[in-house]
Amino acid sequence: MRKLGLLRDIDLALHLPLRHLDETRIVPIGNLRDGDMAQVQGTVTECRVEIRSRRQLLVRLSDGSGELLLRFLNFYPSNQKTLAVDKLVRVRGEVRGGFLGREMVHPEFRAVAPDTPLPTALTPVYPTSAQLPQAYLRKAVASALGRAPLAELLPPGVVPHGLPPLREAVLKLHHPSRDDDEQQLQDRSHPAWQRLKFDELLAQQLAQAQAHATRALLAAPAMKARPQGLSDQLLATLPFVLTAAQQRVVAEISTDLARPQPMHRLLQGDVGSGKTVVAALAATVAMDAGWQCALMAPTEILAEQHFGKLVQWLQPLGITVAWLTGSRKGKQRDTMLAQVASGQAMLVVGTHAVIQRDVVFARLGLAVVDEQHRFGVAQRLALRDKLQAGLPPPGRPKAAEPPRGVAQAQPEPGGASSLEPHLLMMSATPIPRTLAMSYFADLDVSTIDELPPGRTPIVTKVFADGKRDAVIQRIHDEVQQGRQVYWVCPLVEESEHIDLQNATATHAELTAALPGVLVGLLHGRMKGSEKAAVMQLFSSGEMKLLVATTVIEVGVDVPNASLMVIEHAERFGLAQLHQLRGRVGRGAVASVCVLLYSAPLSATGKARLKAMAETNDGFEIARRDLDIRGPGEFMGARQSGDALLRFADLAQDSTLLQHARAVAPGLLAQHPEAALAHVDRWLGGKAEYLKA
Ligand code: ADP
Ligand code: MG
Repeated sequence: MRKLGLLRDIDLALHLPLRHLDETRIVPIGNLRDGDMAQVQGTVTECRVEIRSRRQLLVRLSDGSGELLLRFLNFYPSNQKTLAVDKLVRVRGEVRGGFLGREMVHPEFRAVAPDTPLPTALTPVYPTSAQLPQAYLRKAVASALGRAPLAELLPPGVVPHGLPPLREAVLKLHHPSRDDDEQQLQDRSHPAWQRLKFDELLAQQLAQAQAHATRALLAAPAMKARPQGLSDQLLATLPFVLTAAQQRVVAEISTDLARPQPMHRLLQGDVGSGKTVVAALAATVAMDAGWQCALMAPTEILAEQHFGKLVQWLQPLGITVAWLTGSRKGKQRDTMLAQVASGQAMLVVGTHAVIQRDVVFARLGLAVVDEQHRFGVAQRLALRDKLQAGLPPPGRPKAAEPPRGVAQAQPEPGGASSLEPHLLMMSATPIPRTLAMSYFADLDVSTIDELPPGRTPIVTKVFADGKRDAVIQRIHDEVQQGRQVYWVCPLVEESEHIDLQNATATHAELTAALPGVLVGLLHGRMKGSEKAAVMQLFSSGEMKLLVATTVIEVGVDVPNASLMVIEHAERFGLAQLHQLRGRVGRGAVASVCVLLYSAPLSATGKARLKAMAETNDGFEIARRDLDIRGPGEFMGARQSGDALLRFADLAQDSTLLQHARAVAPGLLAQHPEAALAHVDRWLGGKAEYLKA
């Protein structure tokens, strides 16, 4: 029971049946038809073991209206006792018109006394495991239902009109009567189902509204953009102008930063939409106000690339940028850490792990998390804790010397110890609207819905692996024209080692097939410095072809690359394919993405490749991904394998979701105790996850 999460009475009460058996009536044997699922009762007239093709127990049953043969291929001696001649038995199973007349193979059966009453309600069948017998679980649930606290917690007017009280709904779903609409029970549109789904969605919305309210009580440094400050200076030096969408999101972020409450904003924008510069602009606002910023990336390659770009943009403006990754050790690292601790380094770029572990900031005001979808719940919670802990303790001296060009911060109300940094998360994997409403209600979302001008859409082609030689020829042509190419090797989930073998073999194959072309290899097992050297050669254009594992998945930006080949594309997830494809199409040259697959394709594999070939739009891809995988899996990392919604279905129940969303804030404000009790009933300890 513990394994199934059935600890409290309420857990058992909310452990709802998969389906129901109708044991409320007994069908005369004479009325049985081939294919019926039926319950009969009769007296055993014959019971014998026969050896035909194999040993079997044959039992003949009669109820006066006809005869039925029961056949058991597996049986115990005790079964023979229960089914001995002259016993009265109640049997349930599927009727087959067999060679020897009507029969049931392996029916459920039990001996009964002549006046044993029939149940008046349908019998529930619960989800269970092999070690937990259905009969035991039924009893446990039945007794828990008597004790479970199912009293109505919600004040009148909250529950949508026409839905039953909770206790009634729960009892109905465990023990519906024969008159209930079976179809409605099955497809979960029955009012009793609706009530449970509503309560569940409401709990989720309340938890989010609660998180929101808690955050509103927190204080953060209010950062006002300065005219002629770093932001303006950066904008003036950029080699491009911001798109309208970029300007809009920069304004949204700046407004948040100017408020004395911590920002909690997700910046979503398709691959290549230009999120990095938006992050840099947000950082300039914070730095202008005298606060430090941290920019975290999921991989060293990406961190290094961000570092390069930010140094190029910000160093000329007098900003010291520090870089911290796992592979940076020793004295250099100590120097960096000291610069961060003193406040001399205003911007710190690094991998999450590093920044979370041992960096002490003098005055961290803004944390930017790039590619946040790559991180699971645990990591996000850890980051949140770290950010809270990362603030200066009371009385700690401020950075002695503000860097050149940076205004000294005003003394903040309430003292530095009570301030939280602002948080900006960035992702190229957009969250579909229903999921955003449901799981990310405590998150403000900004969207870059426009690509920088001058990009030619990527053409995606899907080929069977047999076309490999033609693809290699294509690489040759591309390189002849001065372009660069990525070749991504298959992902073998169980084994990093096999990944590596594949990548190494492909590297050798392509080196042999393309004489005179510098072919590089990049994979996760290489040292940071080795990776950096390879990336440097590729970025500079000297290296024409880069064979890589998915280490290049996120963020890598080499605009001259115009062809991406993904081998065994069927093994990648849709979001990942889209991310990979986003490595090309970053310049003005027309780019191509070739998806090689090896047959046979699974149905989902086919659907994924089709989606890739049909659209370049990250939002559409995310929508299809949700269709193909369902929200449970889509949100997998977030929930750490534990589906937060058991009953409601976001796609099917959007009306209920909207209603829950509408009533949650009022309920929390006017009936806080009822609201908290409701959240506890439904989410227990899981509420924490919703805040990650
Ligand atoms: P992503 O949103 O995928 O992180 P990047 O920030 O890496 O995208 O930007 C992709 C490329 O587009 C970079 O080379 C960047 O310098 C460039 N870029 C960003 N904004 C613009 C713009 N407004 N006009 C032209 N190029 C831009
Ligand atoms: Mg990026």
